[in-house]
Amino acid sequence: MSLKYDLESITSHTVANTTGEGRGNAGGIALRNFCIAIDSTMYVKTGVIMRQNLEEKFDIPVKFLVITHYHGDHIFGIKPFKDICVLSSDLTSKIMTNGETRSRYADFIKGLEDEGPMGEGIEYIVPTLLFKDKLTIQDEDLHIEIYHTGGHTAGSSFIFFPHEKVVFAGDLIFENTFPYAGDPTCDPELLIDALKQMQVINADIYIPGHGPIMKGAGSLDRHVKFYNEFKTIIKDAIRDKTATEKISIPDTFGEPDEGRKNMTVNHWLNFYKKK
Ligand SMILES: [Zn+2]
Repeated sequence: MSLKYDLESITSHTVANTTGEGRGNAGGIALRNFCIAIDSTMYVKTGVIMRQNLEEKFDIPVKFLVITHYHGDHIFGIKPFKDICVLSSDLTSKIMTNGETRSRYADFIKGLEDEGPMGEGIEYIVPTLLFKDKLTIQDEDLHIEIYHTGGHTAGSSFIFFPHEKVVFAGDLIFENTFPYAGDPTCDPELLIDALKQMQVINADIYIPGHGPIMKGAGSLDRHVKFYNEFKTIIKDAIRDKTATEKISIPDTFGEPDEGRKNMTVNHWLNFYKKK
């Protein structure tokens, strides 16, 4: 059976795959003369199909690949976009080029390769065009805005397409699943600020880094509430010296994956202990 990686039409200029088949969600925006791909999935195989589908659907070339953050499930499929401009925030690139990430990801890539054919051919590719706070890409009357916010990771960024009021949030949003907020560079305060910034933009559609698409700024309310409640729980636990395993988290997103929960709880404890 041949591999499929379909892109769902979200609006007339926007497509995305939110099925989890490429692990991290990915998609694209068509301007007038070229497309912008957003995130590359975790696999070269899905990255290849994604690019083909974008070019076939809109009948224009993909000119840019925007990377929302450095996590493997969003960047390991970059190889088929190697010939075009791959861009990210300055901080995403800094994290990707440091020795610690390089060696950790070399092991991660080796592990995926050993798991079977899906993980074959991954190349660790670092973005070529970097921006600091905000970048606009324009083409005739259409443009996209990319905002660096930090939060989920120090380099995390989101993309806004004003013409159709669509936001690609990367992992600043996990929909319907307990979020991973345990990256060593995760800043809980910036994460909450980023969610608020995306609410102020008041988009019609938000495409999260994981999970299904969300409609309207109100759909972010429970995410902001979840993180604020979680923050209070963590601060109380520090004050009361509660044992880590006794810390209970808000059940907004159901039963969490144990590993993901522990990494997140531990990271937030360390973060607020230092505050
Ligand atoms: Zn992530």
